[in-house]
Amino acid sequence: MNSVQEPAKLKKINLLDFDRKGLAAFFVALGEKPFRATQLLKWIYQEGVEDFELMTNISKSLRSYLTEHCCIAAPDIVIEQLASDGVRKWALQTHCGNRVETVFIPEEGRGTLCVSSQIGCALACTFCSTAQQGFNRNLTTSEIIGQVYVAQNRLGAEAKITNVVMMGMGEPLLNFDNVVAAMNLMMDDFVYGLSKRRVTISTSGVVPAMYRLTEVCDVSLAVSLHAVTDELRDQLVPINKKYPLKELMDACRENAKLAPRRTVTFEYVMLDGVNDSLDDAHGLIKLLKTVPAKINLIPFNPFPNSSYRCSSNNRINQFKTLLNEAGIVTTIRKTRGEDIDAACGQLVGQVEDKSRRHLKLTMMSAEHAA
Ligand code: SAH
Repeated sequence: MNSVQEPAKLKKINLLDFDRKGLAAFFVALGEKPFRATQLLKWIYQEGVEDFELMTNISKSLRSYLTEHCCIAAPDIVIEQLASDGVRKWALQTHCGNRVETVFIPEEGRGTLCVSSQIGCALACTFCSTAQQGFNRNLTTSEIIGQVYVAQNRLGAEAKITNVVMMGMGEPLLNFDNVVAAMNLMMDDFVYGLSKRRVTISTSGVVPAMYRLTEVCDVSLAVSLHAVTDELRDQLVPINKKYPLKELMDACRENAKLAPRRTVTFEYVMLDGVNDSLDDAHGLIKLLKTVPAKINLIPFNPFPNSSYRCSSNNRINQFKTLLNEAGIVTTIRKTRGEDIDAACGQLVGQVEDKSRRHLKLTMMSAEHAA
């Protein structure tokens, strides 16, 4: 019975795929008033109602139409893990059989959800475990906002998601439209109502998409910098070969113009003997001189077969002191959820690699060993 019903359900229009503008256009196309969009969003995200027949301020005929043609479908939680420090990681099943991961990080007075944007990642940053998985596909808007939806429903009254960081699996700016629609929903007063300061997108530096983002969606920007010379960044974050540091910094400066006192956060993973010399720290100060910047130093989180080591605490603190002395607000990212592989760069999900990168890497390491 189920197997007969499932394909029909999949053909239904998933309302989690629309932000408010998209939903209003959908209703207008049906001959309805655009304000139906706000009614629907409130029912779904704020009242937690999934049964259209219970949406009492909507006409009976529209309710029947929605029941017949639409659905509210978020990915299913298939694994839930709780770390000793309270971090939760969920593996979510997508309809194509792959899994993505979402992480909730509780802190004093706030709760941050780290959201994935793609199944795997098409970029090949050498220190990131998601990269080793290869790439499958972009997540849909419903799969991105669906992570917030299932996480908040699962947390219930126990904890509230107050911040979202697009720092899970994938490069969010390579899935531009779906990510922007999902972030619009996060900030919508009829959905989660998060302020733009509490929604952060992190990019490895897809420069043209950074300009587009600055134009269409005002959220906080974080940039994965990790090196201060093109030579080293080409190796660590290979997209740098396409968009080198000068172009990246120009795009950051443009984003910082959005509002007075606005800053861009630069993420810098601390790799022992690779990018952590005191010369690197001075290079960083020089590079960021003309960008309103904050720096987030990330202790490297190891994963199987990674060839890097994390810098010593001593070196990370020295870095921080030097940057602080130069007047740059610098924080050290606290590593959370390590015992369940939920820390930065450790998210892997379950990816059927369409880019065949996983295969190439395995062959390369076999050649190397031979
Ligand atoms: N693709 C986006 C989003 C990923 S965000 C980006 O590159 O910004 C995840 C952050 O964790 C990025 O700054 C990433 O460079 C960093 N990261 C990746 N692997 C890591 C690792 N093993 N240890 C610490 N940080 C890592």
